Amino acid sequence: MSKPIVAIVGRPNVGKSTLFNALAGEMISIVKDTPGVTRDRIYADVNWLNMQFTLIDTGGIEPESKDVILSQMREQAEIAIETADVIVFLTDVRQGLIDSDAKVADMLRRSNKPVVLVVNKVDSFEKLMPDVYEFYNLGIGEPVPISAASRLGIGDMLDEITKHFKPEQLQEEEDDRPRIAIVGKPNVGKSSIVNKLLGENRVIVSDIAGTTRDAVDTEVKYHGREYIFIDTAGLRRKSKIKEELERYSIIRTVSAVERADVVVIVIDAVEGITEQDAKIAGIAHERGKGIVIAVNKWDAIEKNDKTIYQFTNKVREVLAYMPYAEIIFVSALTGQRLNKLYEVIDVVIENRSMRIATGVLNEILTEAVALQQPPSDKGKRLKLYYMTQVSVKPPTFVIFVNDKELMHFSYTRYIENKIREAFGFRGTSLKFITRERK
Ligand code: GDP
Ligand code: GDP
Repeated sequence: MSKPIVAIVGRPNVGKSTLFNALAGEMISIVKDTPGVTRDRIYADVNWLNMQFTLIDTGGIEPESKDVILSQMREQAEIAIETADVIVFLTDVRQGLIDSDAKVADMLRRSNKPVVLVVNKVDSFEKLMPDVYEFYNLGIGEPVPISAASRLGIGDMLDEITKHFKPEQLQEEEDDRPRIAIVGKPNVGKSSIVNKLLGENRVIVSDIAGTTRDAVDTEVKYHGREYIFIDTAGLRRKSKIKEELERYSIIRTVSAVERADVVVIVIDAVEGITEQDAKIAGIAHERGKGIVIAVNKWDAIEKNDKTIYQFTNKVREVLAYMPYAEIIFVSALTGQRLNKLYEVIDVVIENRSMRIATGVLNEILTEAVALQQPPSDKGKRLKLYYMTQVSVKPPTFVIFVNDKELMHFSYTRYIENKIREAFGFRGTSLKFITRERK
């Protein structure tokens, strides 16, 4: 299942950050904190009436002069059109309608994307509603009044947004061909890898039905199996400002990762693993995707018999939160091990769909409990009754216990390790849910 993406577009100072924080702050569902990964306020997971979506703030740094505002807004709108399923166009009732609003509205209208026109800073609906009607003139539908600062109208706005979600986005995709996203910092060699991987294997370049994004996915057939590579065409944005470029790269990563089954994180062997690589890897980890780390440009460094071992250790150290990730050393230039990459992807796909019979799981549970006594607190000891796998992609297990409070993170981790010792599950995260049974 891929979550819909909602992007906020709007002039500086209309209240984008305030709205973003209001939504992310209260309704954010932090699945798991990823140590070592600082969370930028660029994207957030929002949960509204059991509907989940990823919210993106396309607004970057403040432009220095008035005349760059419009060009920057155009750029924001383009990013939103490329990556989002629904666009929130945020305006400001206090500033009223401004020429650049109309220009951006035109752009959004032509994109045929669902747009929700939101008018912010309506701190008093009674007094300010007449001013809100002016925004009808933008020709992109009915304006939704809110006050981000005092959290008025947020529920109605979310209703308007979620109304546009496609039914297929809210359930499992029917298309069971694996979707692969190749992500990484600029210049690590993503395009080179994709071009090599696609090579003669490319079958069709098409918009695949069901996606509302402009991105072009590519179908590939390799050794009789079909794969879909996510928006590998185009989308190479140039920006003079480093922060903007990084922001765009993160937005693009979130959008690609959201739709992928397996994420290939490309790292530059010459540069070594960096903070930004960890940030990108964190996005895939938090979303429970299959993960392959491809260390590229392996041709370009000097090696001896310890290099792979040392490099692996370094990657494992920086990405300590995802010890399950597969690592492969490749070169897009020479083609070294690129065919192996398909094999690794296949293994990860299989592991993400693997189901373990309940009987076998409980044998492992019994043995694990016997080997290491469960924790206790204030004289009460944790009892683990039973475990069963409830779903796949990622494999998800429910453990029934006497008292949830007693189930420490470290004991869950211990059970996870036992399961991995038995079945591997390389390349995929595992999810554990603890339930009480009285
Ligand atoms: P951004 O540049 O679009 O991200 O805008 P910000 O979120 O930084 O907000 C710009 C200014 O508008 C800040 O001073 C906010 O406190 C203020 N602001 C945001 N939302 C509201 C609102 O609902 N009512 C009022 N009166 N001010 C708001
Ligand atoms: P992207 O921005 O991540 O898509 O990176 P590109 O595919 O555009 O590659 C960036 C630069 O790295 C280009 O100059 C490539 O020729 C070079 N490059 C890519 N892969 C390799 C590789 O495996 N070995 C070497 N030596 N250079 C590479």
